[in-house]
Amino acid sequence: MVSRVIPVESFDLVVFGGTGDLARRKILPGLYRRFLAGQVPDDARIFGAARAEMDDAGFRQFVAEAIAEFGGSASRAAEDVARFLNRLHYVAIDAKGDSGWADLAKAMRPGVVRAFYFSVAPALFGDLAERLHRHGIASPESRIVVEKPFGRDLESARALNATLAEHFTEHQIYRIDHYLGKETVQNLMAVRFANILFEPLWNARHVDHVQITVAETVGVGGRGSYYDKSGAMRDMVQNHLMQLLCLIAMEPPYRFDPDAVRDEKLKVIHALEPVGPDDIVRGQYRGAGKGTRGSYCDDAENPESRTESYIALRVNIANWRWKGTPFYLRTGKKLRARASEIAIVFKEVPHSIFGDEEGWRENVLSIRLQPNEGMTLSVMIKEPGPGGMRLTEVPLDMSFAEALGEDGADIPDAYERLIMDVIRGNQTLFMRGDEVEAAWAWTDPIIAGWEARTDKPRGYDPGSSGPEDALMLLHRDGRRWREIRE
Ligand code: NAD
Repeated sequence: MVSRVIPVESFDLVVFGGTGDLARRKILPGLYRRFLAGQVPDDARIFGAARAEMDDAGFRQFVAEAIAEFGGSASRAAEDVARFLNRLHYVAIDAKGDSGWADLAKAMRPGVVRAFYFSVAPALFGDLAERLHRHGIASPESRIVVEKPFGRDLESARALNATLAEHFTEHQIYRIDHYLGKETVQNLMAVRFANILFEPLWNARHVDHVQITVAETVGVGGRGSYYDKSGAMRDMVQNHLMQLLCLIAMEPPYRFDPDAVRDEKLKVIHALEPVGPDDIVRGQYRGAGKGTRGSYCDDAENPESRTESYIALRVNIANWRWKGTPFYLRTGKKLRARASEIAIVFKEVPHSIFGDEEGWRENVLSIRLQPNEGMTLSVMIKEPGPGGMRLTEVPLDMSFAEALGEDGADIPDAYERLIMDVIRGNQTLFMRGDEVEAAWAWTDPIIAGWEARTDKPRGYDPGSSGPEDALMLLHRDGRRWREIRE
């Protein structure tokens, strides 16, 4: 099956922070891939805007190198790259000053979609919004894309929402959570709401528990001093894991429409019960030596750091659908494998007609976000051959690449998809202001709790599955974590 590419109207896209790491690794190579797919119209223009003094030629060279390094399977044919580079321009701009803004204002065309991607430090989000307005660059049809982190607690998120709201309406603000742009995450909604099979079982009567794992093998590396002020709860749980939890737990929206979907996600966040200290395990990798075997405190350059590089939580949702089905969340750095997975673990059959079968396992719907995006449903069947009824577990593999006859490498990256959604004006996969605030309102007391107790994170070995205590979080409920593997 050849994937359909839906054309978009012409646009002027300005990437503030266009010379930064995110632009280089994701945004610009992603735009190139969309260009190759025919989604960047001939007259569309992409502007890099950053503090460095540079001209169009310098920026095009920068982007050519970014494509060469991070373009993935995309064509490197010189004429393809050159045609794309022709659409690129550069404006030197200071988010905190007035230089460059008049040039940008002059460069904007009337009558086309204007999108402004804020790929700069969060401290500059407000400055950019204000100056876009002051210099008459923001039109009523303009959109702004705001990177993470969106605040570091409820108060700062509220303040940021208020600042952005002074210049843009909620319908113009696209708060990015790239997990929502993943093919599998959207497929989760298709599987749930476009099939009759799963929805009747999607509740506490049939689901024993849910596990959400986002495991990384890297440490905090070069961003240790930033990360040390954040930690796994703020950096991963409040946004990415929470969003995944919402998509699993939400009620069917009445339509696949941005506000209908986000209304349902918001209800889930409101229904989350507070999490007590017994339902949280915080960890910090502590190795001997340097590099991959080293310690978090060395990486963070803070020998006394109490910031967690790992967290596991048991979360309860207080509503009719989920009361009694815990959601176990865990995420961490320097773990044994890079793997993100959601596992819906179903209950046992009410009565086994086969007696005590050794090979028996519960059904699990496993949704892999990375690597190898796809879904697997494990089911029990009879082991082939004579000799009576022996059961065995087989996976029903719903790997999209195979099923759709596509090369998996051609599945668009999350950033590509999300940027095209911005151009199309579709906010479904972006977080609304009230969602972000509700997520912080749930997160803040949990963080305040361990800060007040001056809790220290538990140590774990780099390359392991996390602290021993995290195993206990499930063991005491008679459950176990799924293995972290690629
Ligand atoms: P970076 O430090 O590599 O780049 C920052 C960019 O901002 C540069 O282009 C710089 O020139 C520009 N800049 C700095 N001060 C400026 C000013 N006063 N006026 C105009 N431009 C200015 O940062 P990054 O890693 O690309 O991150 C950008 C944003 O994306 C941040 O909010 C970050 O939290 C978020 N983010 C980054 C990643 C990632 O993988 N890098 C992942 C998720 C989110």
